[in-house]
Amino acid sequence: MNQNFDLLSKAANEARGLAMDAVHACNSGHLGLPLGCAEVGAALFGGALQFNPDEPKWLNRDRFVLSAGHGSMFLYSWLHLAGYALSLEEVKNFRVLGSLTPGHPEYHHTPGVEATTGPLGQGVGNAVGYAVSQKMAEARFNTDKHTIFDNHIIALAGDGCLQEGVAAEAVAFAGHFKLDNLILIYDSNDVTLDAMASATQSEDTALRFKAAEWDVQTIKGNDLAEISKAIENAKAATTGKPQLIIARTLIGKGIPEVAGTSKAHGEGGAKFIDAARKGLGLPDEHFYVSPEVRDFFAGHKKKLAADFEKWTAVYKEWRAENPELATKRTRLLYKLKGYGDDWIEKRMRGIAIREELTDEWQRRGAEEQKDYEILTAEISKAAFGVTPSEYKALKGLKRENLRDHMDDFELIFTMLGERATTEIHRQEDSQGVPKLKSDANAGGRIAGDARKALEKRLKRPIVSGNNYLRAKEARKGLKS
Ligand SMILES: [Mg+2]
Repeated sequence: MNQNFDLLSKAANEARGLAMDAVHACNSGHLGLPLGCAEVGAALFGGALQFNPDEPKWLNRDRFVLSAGHGSMFLYSWLHLAGYALSLEEVKNFRVLGSLTPGHPEYHHTPGVEATTGPLGQGVGNAVGYAVSQKMAEARFNTDKHTIFDNHIIALAGDGCLQEGVAAEAVAFAGHFKLDNLILIYDSNDVTLDAMASATQSEDTALRFKAAEWDVQTIKGNDLAEISKAIENAKAATTGKPQLIIARTLIGKGIPEVAGTSKAHGEGGAKFIDAARKGLGLPDEHFYVSPEVRDFFAGHKKKLAADFEKWTAVYKEWRAENPELATKRTRLLYKLKGYGDDWIEKRMRGIAIREELTDEWQRRGAEEQKDYEILTAEISKAAFGVTPSEYKALKGLKRENLRDHMDDFELIFTMLGERATTEIHRQEDSQGVPKLKSDANAGGRIAGDARKALEKRLKRPIVSGNNYLRAKEARKGLKS
């Protein structure tokens, strides 16, 4: 592994800065882990993890689970730096209602977050579950010729996580079932929420995991070279065992007033951040990321994207050569999502037809699109006296407005729907009595009249546009 540790070290300190600024800004949150594990984050997101920020659901991505979910600013800083769709604005909005950066990471909410975590130890369970599912996927779908699943599950857990029974059960299960795609990084800092860990624990964690049939490495957790090497070893291990990396870290590293103590766990260090930021070599500008670190991650993202493309080529070949396996996989995914057998059968027939016809639809769709755009503009003018783009300008529709993401067709029909509603209100107003009978057909009537008028003027029929829409649908379907 050839890595630029100077730059990763700089990135680690800037991630510390982001965490300090975010926790300070909302006066809430946990600094201990983001600061103590900054080098772990740099080694993972700047090197060891296999992912593609632009395709957060890539099948063969490594899954990173932050079991110690209270240290969420760790995850947000690194997802932001790595180039996921998580803007600096969202980092600044840490813990603000409705932001993508809630107090604890939430699955399905923030791109790159693989599990909703917070209850201590449960993330270890989530990671073991992922490891099982990926092993099952490997066994079912890899072939001698094509490896489409060979990813790793990597979880980061603290003392509190490993004290929990739920973690112990999952750890025993992982050892028993030889989940060698699982790497657990233990943020071992001798500190728990309220006191030094020595007040409540004295077990030998390495021995405990070895007894559960895990491989164990113990390293300096603030040393980038050691972390990178340890993860590399764990990924390359051929012992058939899950991998524990005990990373001896300094909690709250970067804030000398609290580092190494339980005061560093929460937001207690936030009042010292001005001096701490200076000590880390950060400028006065808050939420600062240097151009060098930006460049590094931009370059790293390109490398990750190239790996993704390589995998995609293998995946496409696998699909083409193993249609029955590909179908089995799709079927299984629907089943897991809770769909019934009848629905799945219909859906599978639909997919088969669509795949066959997609090329033809795309070709005809491109031809029809031109007619379709003329028609859309015509309907819009007939109904509202403006074209769709004029409508957008008039309404001052902004990017954050849902309608701005609609294409003209969708927009026009939303507008027509509004027109129908307006008709009802007008009837109520003019007669003084609410008429509850709706004029839901108003939109369709206007659209039909506009089409007829246009065809008359052009002296030819306008094609329906169905092929264009189907091609669009088919493209959407193929992506999912
Ligand atoms: Mg701890």
